[in-house]
Amino acid sequence: MGKDYLRNPYQDTAGVGESGLVLPWDEKLIKELISSYVKSILEQCKPRREDCGDLYVGNAGIAFMFWKLSRSEHGRDLCPTALQHASMFIRQAKRNAERFKEPSSLPSYSFLRGNAGIYAVSAAISEALKDPKQLAKDLANFKAAIPSGKDDGGSDSMLVGRAGYLSGCYWLNDILPGKKIPDEDLISVCKIIIASGREYSTKNHSYLPLMYEYHGMEYLGAAQGLCGILQVLLDSPWFRKDHSQASESPLMDISAPADVLHDVKRTLDCILTQQDVDGNFPVTLEDEGEKRLVQWCHGTPGIVYLIAKAYLIFLEPKYLRSLVRSADFIWRKGFVRKGPGICHGVAGNGYVFLLLFRLTHQRIYLYRAHKFIELMTSEEFKQKARVPDRPHSLYEGLAGTVCFLVDLLEPEKAHFPFMDVFHYEK
Ligand SMILES: [Zn+2]
Repeated sequence: MGKDYLRNPYQDTAGVGESGLVLPWDEKLIKELISSYVKSILEQCKPRREDCGDLYVGNAGIAFMFWKLSRSEHGRDLCPTALQHASMFIRQAKRNAERFKEPSSLPSYSFLRGNAGIYAVSAAISEALKDPKQLAKDLANFKAAIPSGKDDGGSDSMLVGRAGYLSGCYWLNDILPGKKIPDEDLISVCKIIIASGREYSTKNHSYLPLMYEYHGMEYLGAAQGLCGILQVLLDSPWFRKDHSQASESPLMDISAPADVLHDVKRTLDCILTQQDVDGNFPVTLEDEGEKRLVQWCHGTPGIVYLIAKAYLIFLEPKYLRSLVRSADFIWRKGFVRKGPGICHGVAGNGYVFLLLFRLTHQRIYLYRAHKFIELMTSEEFKQKARVPDRPHSLYEGLAGTVCFLVDLLEPEKAHFPFMDVFHYEK
């Protein structure tokens, strides 16, 4: 474990009161950093034909970053041509999508690592460019990929499966005018995910009512595992609260069938018991503690989104206590050496502080998010951190870091890409 992270020299913030917290990075410094990263991305990263095109490490991920920058009130002036760059990268990604359509090992609904994610980002860019014809085409391509049954050979994960597709649907419904993907379609995918999880659990005698596998492993984490899948179920219309009516019990607002509510809640609460004394979660349920990771894809930096969603829905203090422990743990051991990215890097772990800031409004979390940027720009990090395989990409590289910095400029709206647990709270 000692090899995976660098010591956080600021970890003792005892005695620093909320009012005494001075944020170490002001707007000017954050903007300078965004500009320098964007410059590096534009210099080093041309839309390429041989690229896989996907959101995770391909052209669509870079396009997403430019689209996000173009929408940011505080960030858009840093790159007035952001939308044009977004358009260029997504056009190339779509050419790749055509080329990679057949034969492919991934189903068409694969979001972060496949074609559905490319068409979703293209739809967002077409909307921003006020191109209704292209928007209609992109949406048609995205919607045509909707999962239709549990026996299609695909998976349920966030990374390549049905959960990822749903997260794309929620995102499009949030950012496009009108509700482009109706509740019935969302629920139909949720039902497939529930059926798939129950079937796997029964076959494999799991003690959790819902369980899933990815390449033969029962992962817990956000990217390939159970927590990412449960989170999109909690994010579905089944658990959408009606804010126009104050109800006495949080459960009264839930429209999920009783058996679904039971299985989701029981699985969720079993996961919560897996949080270790440090505050982290195992990579799989079989993991006895020999290998714990501190990154969005494995471990508590990704699992927090499920717990935060659970807290917003069920309002039980145990979820908030778990989140505070997670954030404290990431503050101590989340300054990881795997690079600056959001999947398994410092910015991804820094997003946890922005989540806690939005949830609690305590400035200590904003302070910690700023400090992670300070640490990431330090000489020590430059010398000791590894350079990821795709150093400019959205999930492994600087494009994700730019998203984090843009969110640092507007922390009250910040959210990890495609995981906005607050989207029904607006
Ligand atoms: Zn990762």
